[in-house]
Amino acid sequence: MTQPSLGDPVQYLKGVGPYRARQLEKLGITTVGGLLTHYPKRYEDRSTMRPISLAGFADVETVSGAIVSVSERHVRKSLSILQVGISDGTGVLFGIWFNQPYLKQRFRRGDRVIFSGRIERKFGSVQIENPEYEELDSDDDESIHTSRIVPIYGLTEGISQKVLRSVMKSAVDQFSSLVPDFLDGEIRDRRALPDLSSSVSQVHFPRSMDELQHSRKRLVFDELFMIQVGLAVTKRARGSVNKGFRHLPDGTALEEFRRRLPYRLTKAQDRVYDEICWDMERQEPMNRLLQGDVGSGKTEVAAMALLKAVGSGHQGALMAPTEILAEQHFINLNELLGGAGVRVALLVSGLPKKQKDLALSALGAGEIDVVIGTHALIQRDVEFFSLGLVVVDEQHRFGVRQRATLAGKGCTPDVLVMTATPIPRTLALTLYGDLDYSVIDEMPPGRKPVVTQHLPEDKKRRGYSFLKDQVTAGRQAFVVCPLIEESEWLQAEAATILAERLRRQVLRGLNVALLHGRMATEEKESVMREFRDGASQVLVSTSVIEVGVDVPNTTVMLIEGAERFGLSQLHQLRGRVGRSAEQSFCFLISSSLSEEARKRMEVMESTTDGFRIAESDLEIRGPGEFFGTRQHGMPDLKIANPLKDYPVLLEAREEAFALVARDPALADPAHAALAGKLREVFPEGMGLVTVS
Ligand code: ADP
Ligand code: MG
Repeated sequence: MTQPSLGDPVQYLKGVGPYRARQLEKLGITTVGGLLTHYPKRYEDRSTMRPISLAGFADVETVSGAIVSVSERHVRKSLSILQVGISDGTGVLFGIWFNQPYLKQRFRRGDRVIFSGRIERKFGSVQIENPEYEELDSDDDESIHTSRIVPIYGLTEGISQKVLRSVMKSAVDQFSSLVPDFLDGEIRDRRALPDLSSSVSQVHFPRSMDELQHSRKRLVFDELFMIQVGLAVTKRARGSVNKGFRHLPDGTALEEFRRRLPYRLTKAQDRVYDEICWDMERQEPMNRLLQGDVGSGKTEVAAMALLKAVGSGHQGALMAPTEILAEQHFINLNELLGGAGVRVALLVSGLPKKQKDLALSALGAGEIDVVIGTHALIQRDVEFFSLGLVVVDEQHRFGVRQRATLAGKGCTPDVLVMTATPIPRTLALTLYGDLDYSVIDEMPPGRKPVVTQHLPEDKKRRGYSFLKDQVTAGRQAFVVCPLIEESEWLQAEAATILAERLRRQVLRGLNVALLHGRMATEEKESVMREFRDGASQVLVSTSVIEVGVDVPNTTVMLIEGAERFGLSQLHQLRGRVGRSAEQSFCFLISSSLSEEARKRMEVMESTTDGFRIAESDLEIRGPGEFFGTRQHGMPDLKIANPLKDYPVLLEAREEAFALVARDPALADPAHAALAGKLREVFPEGMGLVTVS
């Protein structure tokens, strides 16, 4: 017989046959090791189950008893109520379900069950609406399902809590001792972390809440620690292996640039630019995250960094996530840098082939100083004469691996990553933890917060008539049409129809222009130019105007179908106005609101602070969806919640970076297990990084 191992298929476990193995596979579980990392979503303390007569009012409790009644009532045609009474000798409690008649078959008088949920007293009886329930059989193992702190798992069709719990118990009993501990003993001591195999066992079947907290912390620490080790190794490798550019101290070009600006840089812009200069003038390549709220003036800082690279005899590139954004940046940078004699070019796939070939050869010959394009374009087929700086306009779409490949060839360019809207610190440390961090935490002076109002569909005329007044008074306005994610074509059509309707009806007499993603590059440019010059008064657009559009005379942003946009998108869209000393306004029009959408509208009405909005976003959506670690080339988080576990994140980060500073390649034999684990966690590597 072979030795049992964590890689064994789940079918090796007692009680798992081909049928259950298939059910488990639906949960993404195929091996015993995989099963052990299917952590409970919550726990129920059944060690101190209270008798029904003492069940707390309005508390979440778990009670058990024998079924004494099952009755179903039809109150109206559309409403049936199932009522299941249980008794434990001290009292009777009712479980109540609405419109779930099929549940009736599950309950038979005399069966023993557990109900848990919020206890209510209504109409003289004690009840729980929609309780979670579990049948108790006489042959049940008390030590697993009752009289203890019981794990509650995420399930899939065809598998019950009880079955999964029993299977888990045998997995824990037979296999948890095989989980190897890869963590340095010193770190474990310093952070008071219990050993791994007992933590795995305790997280599934805790002896006490205290031990549960301890064990959970260990597993959370591990998850965050592995990510941080990966980031630390990446950062180290980049700094030591590659030769970077030493850009020159600022010369007259930058002095003139500042002089030409119609305003002074804010203190925050100055400070951040100094940080960037320091980094660019060193031999080691810069890898820096530039954060700042919408309208805080990141573009100006990026432009100065590009000018510095060009002034040092090198080229700059700006990578945007979409073509339309690349075009916006092109317009902005041309305006900012054109006066300094910098040759700026746009490289998008919409360009005629001849023009594209010309641009490519000019780049190779060093006849273009700054090129703007999408991530894809710049990475693939572009040869530079001497690429000294890459600015990445991030938009949450550019993972650690791509960052690493950028730094692939020859001399390594400096890299500046900009996020369009701020992201919470905890997210920044997880997804961008290999980067240094600069933040513009101050807005240009004289800005008034945008006054924001949510209007239901039937009141939207108010928004439009306000918009008309503003335009009549000489201002301009944006109207954003509802988001259609499925098809760019449908989206373009929707915008076209909306513009037509507004021209014929509510906005008759005004000059209404249209912008969408299906237009040719030149057409877009001319629409933007006319709007900028004030030739058109209202710009109807898809969310393509989300980033980079800068027309300070615009004071109204009206968003149709606002419920379809996420918070950071709404914030970004709103950031298109409020760019002058004039008071600006934002109207969010929505037809029907889900609970989450209603919260988003409330957040938008209550604050214009991007950092606060980012945090609310994280709270509303929860870390799972918000983090999207997978798309960043990061492992999924199975137990850690970087929002709540922020203190552990800081501990893990500190230990990871210290360890990698001591042993950059994890070559010490004492770190062999850790290196193995790292390969397991990042199976495709992290781009640059190969751990021996
Ligand atoms: P971001 O890219 O961070 O969203 P922008 O760079 O687009 O912000 O700047 C927003 C607006 O503020 C632009 O109109 C820009 O010209 C203006 N601006 C930038 N810096 C300053 C400053 N220091 N003082 C006044 N206005 C500024
Ligand atoms: Mg900008």
